[in-house]
Amino acid sequence: MRDTIDINSNDNALFVTSQCNNRCVMCCQPPLQQDDIDFYLRKNQALIDSAPSHLPILGITGGEPTLLGERLFEMLQRIRARLPETEIHLLTNGRAFADKKYARKLAECGTDHILLGIPLHSDYAGDHDAITQVKGSFDETLLGLYNLARYGFGIELRVVITRMNYRRLPKLPNFVYRNLPFVEFVSLMGLEYTGYTIKNKDQVWIDPLDYQQELGQAVQGFRDWNLDVSVFNLPRCLLPQTLWPFARKSISDWKTSYLPICEHCIEKADCCGLFATSKVQSRGIRAITEQTR
Ligand code: SF4
Repeated sequence: MRDTIDINSNDNALFVTSQCNNRCVMCCQPPLQQDDIDFYLRKNQALIDSAPSHLPILGITGGEPTLLGERLFEMLQRIRARLPETEIHLLTNGRAFADKKYARKLAECGTDHILLGIPLHSDYAGDHDAITQVKGSFDETLLGLYNLARYGFGIELRVVITRMNYRRLPKLPNFVYRNLPFVEFVSLMGLEYTGYTIKNKDQVWIDPLDYQQELGQAVQGFRDWNLDVSVFNLPRCLLPQTLWPFARKSISDWKTSYLPICEHCIEKADCCGLFATSKVQSRGIRAITEQTR
């Protein structure tokens, strides 16, 4: 995470705590049990106060930002006062918003210029809870989504693809259409091979080459329901060409890397590249040429 706000970066975010109330088996930044909220609040207040006034977007991340409780709202109000036009991207597991009062207090901070990125690991509660390692988290996240929808918040559903959830990906579009039609867009995300993924590799790691079919069916399903869908963190050489229009340059600039082979790839300019932080890369990385495209 950066210590400064850089107007030219695609990833300016306030890291608000390393604590979390989930224990996701593939977490790229495993939570710590330390009381760090005041420390980060002081640091982030200084970052907000010194941020360029025309900053386009500012993330809020952790850990789980709602563990700040009421202090999250104070921070949002400070951002609003200092950066009224900046889009805020709040990454949260959404569970705290199962409490209607907490959702209402967020709404009182303003519902414009804020997008909530909320992970939904599966359409099946058992799989979701197995991934978060918190029983009941699926129900709380869904309730949180409904409470947020009452206030018209923009919501991005985030699905990190692992060995534990890839088989049910094709079922997700129907589930979202039927149960969460208010969602603004869905991001299907490649896994970063770091953090808990290293420890739990047999359980969670799957080479993206091995779920191309399920990913393709999920993207097509979202398109069939006219739901906005994007593919994050997967380089073009790991995707069938039909999915390239959905692939975004999504990896934070400070985390993006390319292999020497990428220098010979005609798609490099449009490719998201690879996580520099990943300890293992796919077996399918190959330079795309006019002949192989
Ligand atoms: S070879 Fe490199 S630049 Fe080309 S698609 Fe693969 S990762 Fe991207």
